[in-house]
Amino acid sequence: MITRFAPSPTGPLHLGHAYSAILAHDMARAAGGQFLLRIEDIDQTRARPAWEAQIADDLAWLGLTWDGPVLRQSQRMSLYYGVIDDLWRKGHLYICTCTRRDIHAALSAPQEGGPDGPIYPGTCKGRRSTAATPPRDAVLRFDLDTFTDQAISFQNNGLRVDVTLDDLRRDVGDFVIGRKDSGTSYHLSVVIDDAAQDITDVVRGADLAAATQIHVALQRVLGLPTPRYHHHDLIRDAAGKRLAKRDDAKSIAKFRAEGISPAGIRQMVGLAP
Ligand code: GLU
Repeated sequence: MITRFAPSPTGPLHLGHAYSAILAHDMARAAGGQFLLRIEDIDQTRARPAWEAQIADDLAWLGLTWDGPVLRQSQRMSLYYGVIDDLWRKGHLYICTCTRRDIHAALSAPQEGGPDGPIYPGTCKGRRSTAATPPRDAVLRFDLDTFTDQAISFQNNGLRVDVTLDDLRRDVGDFVIGRKDSGTSYHLSVVIDDAAQDITDVVRGADLAAATQIHVALQRVLGLPTPRYHHHDLIRDAAGKRLAKRDDAKSIAKFRAEGISPAGIRQMVGLAP
């Protein structure tokens, strides 16, 4: 078993992150497997080395150890671009110039939206380019019309989940592979790196559960294995609100400063040793 913790260094580690990291760590250790650390810092406008250092320090303080070198996504851009170019050459991608406002205006009816917001109405679909490689500063969408499997399946929390191509069209739409700000998208880089690190079990918060169908679809297109997924409940504050990175009040650093012990943190998230 190989699990991982994959934080984005855009803020302090809080209780929710600690919960995720401890779960993934303990699961691997209990199985005699490995626990890996990956820094998801593709968004260089928000990622800070100081946050990364703090994350590593907090994890070590919590008593978590990780195996092998830390994988840093910002150092793997050329690899992601190589995969994007390949998807482009195979006709899977198109350039999307829609603004958020354009997308809302084109929606025929109000909708709940998918993992990344409103389901893209397909305005730019069909726009073709003869360029050998796509621009690096454009939004590139995956054209679901080029997806050849009629259904995908994966394991989530021990249960088999089946998703048909029609489900993908309805609940996800043409998702983003290349972004203006960060070149690659979270979906693409997470899939490439879970495979590169031979992750067998992805442990993460329920907020990412809906994105999993995108990841599995991409694994099919790229010929990559599908790990088992485990999505855990989110830690909420006393008012029931989900903890966000900006909630410094619940940051591990703050608890440390107040003299709480690592065992105390484990108790707070219900994972006492
Ligand atoms: N980097 C993501 C985050 O900080 C987590 C990605 C994942 O676990 O798949 O929310």
